[in-house]
Amino acid sequence: MTFRNSGNLDTSGVSGGGGGGRGRGVAIGGGVGGILVVLVAVVLGVDPSQLGVGGGTGYDTGYGSTGTDASAQAYQEQIDGCTLAAANTDTICRVVATTESLEDVWTVQLPEQTGMQYTQPHTNVFSGRISTGCGQGTSETGPFYCPSDNEVYLDPTFFDEVLVGQLGGSDSPASQMYVLAHEFGHHVQTLLGDIRHSQTDPRGASSGAVRVELQADCYAGLWAHYATTTPAPGGEAPLLESLTSPDVDTIVQTAEAIGDDHIQNLGSGRIDPSAWTHGSSEMRRQWFITGYQNGSVRSCDTFSAQL
Ligand SMILES: [Zn+2]
Repeated sequence: MTFRNSGNLDTSGVSGGGGGGRGRGVAIGGGVGGILVVLVAVVLGVDPSQLGVGGGTGYDTGYGSTGTDASAQAYQEQIDGCTLAAANTDTICRVVATTESLEDVWTVQLPEQTGMQYTQPHTNVFSGRISTGCGQGTSETGPFYCPSDNEVYLDPTFFDEVLVGQLGGSDSPASQMYVLAHEFGHHVQTLLGDIRHSQTDPRGASSGAVRVELQADCYAGLWAHYATTTPAPGGEAPLLESLTSPDVDTIVQTAEAIGDDHIQNLGSGRIDPSAWTHGSSEMRRQWFITGYQNGSVRSCDTFSAQL
C-alpha cells in the first residue's frame, strides 16, 4: 500500500493521549481487542471474567489512571508533524492517513449505499492506559472502539509486540491499516444499529458477537475496495495510490492470525468453538475478502449468513 507523496493530510482526526473518561459502556474489542484479553487470560491462567471481559464481547473495567501527559504530548507532536509521504514509513502517520482515508470512503459509501449520513469517529493514539467512555483501556486490551464516545483507541506498540510478536500477524503497513479499518467497521455498525448483537448473544461460533466481528472485517474489506479510487477532499487524488495483491495477502495473514481458533491454539492448544467471540481464521479471511471483492454493505450481512 502506498500513499501519494504530496498533497495535504488532515491530522485533526487523531489525537495523542485521548479523550476523557465520562460514563461507562461496553467497548467492542478490535479484531484483536476482546480476544487478546482472553489470550492473555489463558496464558496467565486467569479467568477472563476477572478481567472484565463481559460475555466475551468487550470489556468494562471502570476508571483508571490515564497515560502520562508526556507520552500524550509526544504522540501529539508526532501527529501534528505528519505528512502523507511519512505515512509510507511511519506507523503514527500511517494511522493518521488511514483515519482520513476511512473518512473519505465512508462519507461517500454509507449514504450512497444505506441513505444514512456518516459521522467520523475520533482516533486516539495512547500509551499504557487511557480513560475512555467505556472505562479504562490498556495496551494489553489491543485496539478497540467505544460506542459510548464514538472513539477508536490504539496503542501503536500493539502492532510489533503483540500482533506480530505474539500472534504471528503480518508487520506490513496494510496489516496495520486493516486493524484500524476493522475498528471503524464497529463505528459503522454503531451508526446502523447492528452492534447490539454482540451483547445480546456474546459467544459461540455462530453467535451475534462473532457476526458483529466478521461484519467489521467485511467493512474493513469494503474500505480497501474503494480506498484507491475515492477522491480526497477538494477533489484531490485519492490518498492511497496502490493496494496490491501482496498487500491483500498480508491482510489475510493478519486476519488469520487473530482468528479465535488460532489464538486458542496458541493459548491452551485446545479449540473450543463455543467460546469464540470473533470467529475462526477461515471466517475472518473469508469475510474480509467478501467486503474487498464486493464493496457493498449488503454483501456484509453476516446476520443473515449461514455461519
Ligand atoms: Zn472487533
